[in-house]
Amino acid sequence: ACPVNAITAGDNTFKFLRDLATPNKVVITQMAPAVRVAIGEAFGFEPGTNVENKIAAGLRKLGVEYVFDTTWAADLTIMEEAAELQERLEKHLAGDKDVKLPILTSCCPAWVKFIEQNYGDMLDVPSSAKSPMQMFATVAKDLWGREHGLERDQITSVAIMPCIAKKYEASRPEFSRGLNYDVDYVITTAELVKIFKDSGIDLSTIEDEPIDQVLGEYTGAGVIFGRTGGVIEAATRTAVEKMTGKRVDNIEFEQLRGWDSFRACELEVGDLKLRIGITYGLKEAGKMLDKIKEGEEFFHAIEIMACTYGCVGGGGQPKARKRNEVLQKRAEGLNSIDRSLPIRRSYENPAVLAIYDKYLDHPLSHKAHELLHTKYFVKVKKNK
Ligand code: SF4
Repeated sequence: ACPVNAITAGDNTFKFLRDLATPNKVVITQMAPAVRVAIGEAFGFEPGTNVENKIAAGLRKLGVEYVFDTTWAADLTIMEEAAELQERLEKHLAGDKDVKLPILTSCCPAWVKFIEQNYGDMLDVPSSAKSPMQMFATVAKDLWGREHGLERDQITSVAIMPCIAKKYEASRPEFSRGLNYDVDYVITTAELVKIFKDSGIDLSTIEDEPIDQVLGEYTGAGVIFGRTGGVIEAATRTAVEKMTGKRVDNIEFEQLRGWDSFRACELEVGDLKLRIGITYGLKEAGKMLDKIKEGEEFFHAIEIMACTYGCVGGGGQPKARKRNEVLQKRAEGLNSIDRSLPIRRSYENPAVLAIYDKYLDHPLSHKAHELLHTKYFVKVKKNK
């Protein structure tokens, strides 16, 4: 179940099928990193098997016009988050007492809602970078759409997510222009399994097809977003190399890896020493934020994900019997995709660099702020 019980999840299966059958609607999809290593379980694959090219084939068979990948936008998120981390760290190391640390990664909507409801006095610590899902959708509707002669309302932007909380995130008013939302709606992994099965699409027999470019090219850093510690590992891969000006030989930061739900890690690269906190589960997140608030712990950066082991354990993923074992296999599946890729640092993703060249200039530019950043709001918990 979703860890944020205030979130009500609408099933958009019918809407999706109706939109696919409507002439003149350009339906585009994005899929989160964790989806590709879990959906195969429903079709007889081992947990952790990467079936992204089978998902692409299945979605095209359903009638999706462009099959893109959220992982591309995970790299874009890292460009912005790592630049923010670097900016705050450099000020901190120069002795600026006003700089806010730790910086918090902000791609999990369940914990964003949690901090808005419970730690209203700490809203200036999360990175203002939008989540990969929201960055993808903004770029798709505002930049890619324009290049293809499409107005925002001609594009139906569907996100396939491991997550029920993403349905809530997509509906936040700050991610819309009037009634036109950047993400029109979210389909969970489990809902997509049902759609495929009801449509006679079997991922175990379908031929692989590639993901569409340019919003599909991703690096190893982007794909590890789907497991605990992955977002902060991806961010530090970029930030430490940018800060030190040196290439790190081993970018698999073992110090940041593990399965414990509360991890305090030390990362040392040359002269740079970072203390990083990683948690999953909102109870542990609360403990970590309390310790920071009370001055019992100091971290330069923290990652909080609401679900067990991160998005691989999301509430929208297929249910698993030996849960922890299966979730670890999914997470290892993401690590193995990372290891197999020629590019493993977000700042080397050519498709992301092209967006900066063409439209955004550089991370944290005025244009990047306008399109890729957001704000957080103090929220009052509703009594049930
Ligand atoms: Fe969604 Fe869970 Fe991932 Fe958070 S950790 S984004 S709630 S799947």
